[in-house]
Amino acid sequence: MSDNPPIEFAFPELRKWEKGAAPYIHVFDSGKPGPTVMVAALTHGNEVSGAVVVDALLDKGLRPRKGALILGFNNIEAYHSFDPRTPFKSRMIDEDFNRTWGRLGQPATTVETRRAQLVKPFVERADLLLDLHSMHDDGVPLMLAGPLAKGVEFAKQVGTPVDIIADSGHAAGMRMRDYGGFGDPKSAKNALLIETGQHWRASSVTVAQDVTARFLVASGVVGPADLPADWKQPTPAKQRVVEVTHAIATKRGNFIPARQFEGQEVIAKAGTVLGHDDGEPVTTPYDDCVLVMPAVNRPLRAGVTVVRLGRLV
Ligand SMILES: [Zn+2]
Repeated sequence: MSDNPPIEFAFPELRKWEKGAAPYIHVFDSGKPGPTVMVAALTHGNEVSGAVVVDALLDKGLRPRKGALILGFNNIEAYHSFDPRTPFKSRMIDEDFNRTWGRLGQPATTVETRRAQLVKPFVERADLLLDLHSMHDDGVPLMLAGPLAKGVEFAKQVGTPVDIIADSGHAAGMRMRDYGGFGDPKSAKNALLIETGQHWRASSVTVAQDVTARFLVASGVVGPADLPADWKQPTPAKQRVVEVTHAIATKRGNFIPARQFEGQEVIAKAGTVLGHDDGEPVTTPYDDCVLVMPAVNRPLRAGVTVVRLGRLV
């Protein structure tokens, strides 16, 4: 992926959504019993496909038939910092919003911790959460279902995309999707994180629309007829669940891949060389090893995850 990949859709003007229950967060309560359901976009500021979808839901005035619906834009400051000459920079301002959730009890010292503290009560109120993301590289969409069986079950209920990834997140800090009851096997709360494809591909908007429509209908707060008729896409014949076992990071940013890899490509033989890091071979640890969201096709900084490895379960 070049430094300036094509941008295939218009970015929405979001300043009109500033005034809400909190800035850029809108709560609609039906007044009838039911779950509180939250759809969040822009957890990373340059992941715009989700913002197109949340903007459209606000524009069309979607309201829940029962329970409550929360629609929000998380790292709105990062979104507003977008510069087409350096499009990847607007992922964040000071730090990754999606690694702050384990330390929100501490004083906020960054744009992202301040924003996360503001968003937190809404996330805590939500019974079901969909967090809309996209990818740096041109990759096959995937659902990050978290480490618990309930996440995988919910991803199957949504029914798309093909790849459901069971993973425990990042050593660098807790994600929003793992926060509070979402990360508690005894809680009925549930969260999903969709990676729709490359940030600015038109196809990523299609995936975000499809997954959001399915999520909202599965939640029960709206019916299929409440959503735009063209959002839902054909259901894949089957989904597969991949359990992440390893995260491969490059020590000093000198990883040289053996070849070009595809998202969620399955490598048949254990011991297959994926590339060399500082001259050391990196090999697959078992047969039928899945390469989850490989970033091996571009230069990376020291310490960055090159690829995550997973088993089909
Ligand atoms: Zn993201």
